[in-house]
Amino acid sequence: MRIIDNVLELQQELGACAAEKIGFVPTMGALHNGHLTLVRQAREQCDRVVVSIFVNPTQFNDPKDLECYPRQVSADCALLEGVGVDFVFVPSVEQIYPERDSRIFELGGVDAGMEGASRPGHFNGVAQVVSRLFDIVKPTVAYFGEKDFQQVAVIKAMVAQLSIDVKIVVVPIVREEDGLALSSRNVLLTAECRAAAPKIYQALRSAQKRVPQFSPLGLKAIITDMVEADGILKVIYFEAVDAATMQSVDSWSESDNIQGCIAVQAGAVRLIDNIKLK
Ligand code: AMP
Repeated sequence: MRIIDNVLELQQELGACAAEKIGFVPTMGALHNGHLTLVRQAREQCDRVVVSIFVNPTQFNDPKDLECYPRQVSADCALLEGVGVDFVFVPSVEQIYPERDSRIFELGGVDAGMEGASRPGHFNGVAQVVSRLFDIVKPTVAYFGEKDFQQVAVIKAMVAQLSIDVKIVVVPIVREEDGLALSSRNVLLTAECRAAAPKIYQALRSAQKRVPQFSPLGLKAIITDMVEADGILKVIYFEAVDAATMQSVDSWSESDNIQGCIAVQAGAVRLIDNIKLK
């Protein structure tokens, strides 16, 4: 496994594998089994596997969140070595953005609600960094987690907008035994918030069982009551959305594929999760 921090060096290495199937997993590091599941899939399906570790400043709307984001590159590299990665790309901010990236992406509205509404500029930053990384790595296939459900729609919209020749593979959410979706941010949870956090998935599961008896709005009330019951967690939003357009629906007949997406404040930590409702 080679660890590379320089764009030109990575491109040289990858140029030598141009005829091969290159699988790419972009991450922000602090790796866990969710990330590793994406990497294992890439390893099974591709000739070469590239993983990037880059905490992208342009997607953080909250400077404190950027500052506190966990960083542990040596431990990450040890994990990646264990799953057979060929190249770990660990660039500096200057390598990714030699000059300020002022591109504004038109993402067809998939970026407007939910995370887009509560984190202004976040998805534009995601589109900036992923397009830049795709340009550097030129992957055949790129792997993304369903945990960031809206992000996948943003990536697909960005790929379509820029006509990038890459296959996007979406990997199901990996969870702790108690149901909490794995996230790099989980290590930042206080013991009290960590103990309460499984409520999020419990509420999503119970909402799933109440379709179609309850309307999307009815579900929102049920979920909010469940998640907030012990006064530790606070629901930032819950929305039932069309799984392709990310537009929220008022009734179950509005779409054949509906996902329930939630964001929760757990102390200083923001957690997201989602579940298929239809
Ligand atoms: P991040 O490092 O948080 O930017 O995540 C990098 C990739 O891993 C993204 O495509 C995430 O959606 C994915 N990912 C993060 N957590 C999970 C999880 N619990 N299950 C599956 N994929 C995940």
